[in-house]
Amino acid sequence: MCIFCKIVNGEIPNRTVLENENFLAFEDINPACKIHVLVIPKEHYDSFDVIPPKIMAEMTEFIHKIASKLNIRENGYRLITNIKEDGGQEVHHLHFHILAGERVGRLVCKETV
Ligand code: 5GP
Ligand code: ZN
Repeated sequence: MCIFCKIVNGEIPNRTVLENENFLAFEDINPACKIHVLVIPKEHYDSFDVIPPKIMAEMTEFIHKIASKLNIRENGYRLITNIKEDGGQEVHHLHFHILAGERVGRLVCKETV
């Protein structure tokens, strides 16, 4: 079972930000920003590349709720999902990163800097 499925079923503890029947948002263990939250569907999908669009629509609504709860909608935030090897994905259970609370840096490919 993947590490985020273990978080969903309670085997690995997490600091929950928001949860409903189908989705979970929790703090990243190694934050890259003042606010760094991970958002996952409770059902396992390997990445964004295979998520059914209907579930993505529900996830969009859930992410809007998290942004409201964190009070980051006015100043803004960055929403990222890494996909497979070239995308830099390390945990192969679909997750979105919400980065906020400060001005985030430029998006770069390390090969170009
Ligand atoms: P990826 O590189 O796959 O897009 O991001 C994986 C993220 O999961 C990383 O930011 C990493 O810090 C986070 N992460 C990995 N293991 C755990 C864990 O056990 N708990 C939490 N809260 N975050 C984790
Ligand atoms: Zn999983």
